Amino acid sequence: MTAPVPRPVDVHALPAMLTALRLPSIQRHWPALAGRADAEGWPASRFLAALAEIELADRDARRIQRHLRESGLPGGKTLATFDFKALAGVPRARIEALAAGDWVETGANLIAIGNSGAGKTHVLCAIGHALVEAGRRVLYTRTTDMVQRLQAARRDLALEAALAKLDKFDLIILDDITYAQKDQAESSVLFELIARRYETKSLAIAANQPFSAWGSVFPDQAVTVAAIDRLVHHATILEMNGDSYRRRAAASRQSPEAVAPPTASSDNISDKLEEEAAQ
Ligand code: ADP
Ligand code: MG
Repeated sequence: MTAPVPRPVDVHALPAMLTALRLPSIQRHWPALAGRADAEGWPASRFLAALAEIELADRDARRIQRHLRESGLPGGKTLATFDFKALAGVPRARIEALAAGDWVETGANLIAIGNSGAGKTHVLCAIGHALVEAGRRVLYTRTTDMVQRLQAARRDLALEAALAKLDKFDLIILDDITYAQKDQAESSVLFELIARRYETKSLAIAANQPFSAWGSVFPDQAVTVAAIDRLVHHATILEMNGDSYRRRAAASRQSPEAVAPPTASSDNISDKLEEEAAQ
């Protein structure tokens, strides 16, 4: 069967046709490529394949850009800007393996626990960025924002739908889970999210407090235990109790030799800097 070809073929209609077909990259590149194909005597099939390849590659890039925008990931906190040497106790290879992202396929979790300024947000976001680059979908949110969003949905009797909508994300990063004390209703929506994603979709969590202190953040003991249980069942836990990166960076600006852990004489200045950084 021969394809119907309108005669004469109207080349002038090409831009409109490509727009209608949503092929912006072919639109942009075909004139130059056609010139080359003509000059080098390409067979029509090669010309067509080259155009299709360009559109597909650009489409992937556009999708990644879209996913990056929708992720809410802060720009700049990537592996490229991450100083692995500063992360005592967590080997670089471990972070790189996490950045490869296979673990999200089984809905495993990642939990970074450590003091303020240890780099928890940065490392989780860097892993998030790497996952988006690899074509996965990630959402970064402060835990309080997520809680508000889910509580609003519950008020509208749409919690189930709100949770279902989050299923599209391979990974949700909940930052600062222990930042503020949660009341019963806040804990309960958070638990719904954790329970829903358990063993199917991944969570990455940053916490300033060790698990033993979570009881003072979440009011209901039984819910806290159940939440921690589900979170850690299949989880990588990064214990990041290094010195505050902010403090060290500030101290090294003050005096280059103060980059090492603070000595007795540098305690005053670094404590002050930490107080400032914490504000
Ligand atoms: P936390 O979330 O643990 O409080 P952050 O990730 O916010 O700490 O780190 C504090 C600041 O120091 C941020 O500006 C972050 O980008 C930077 N930082 C922390 N650790 C590193 C690191 N290993 N390499 C580069 N920058 C870092
Ligand atoms: Mg943080």
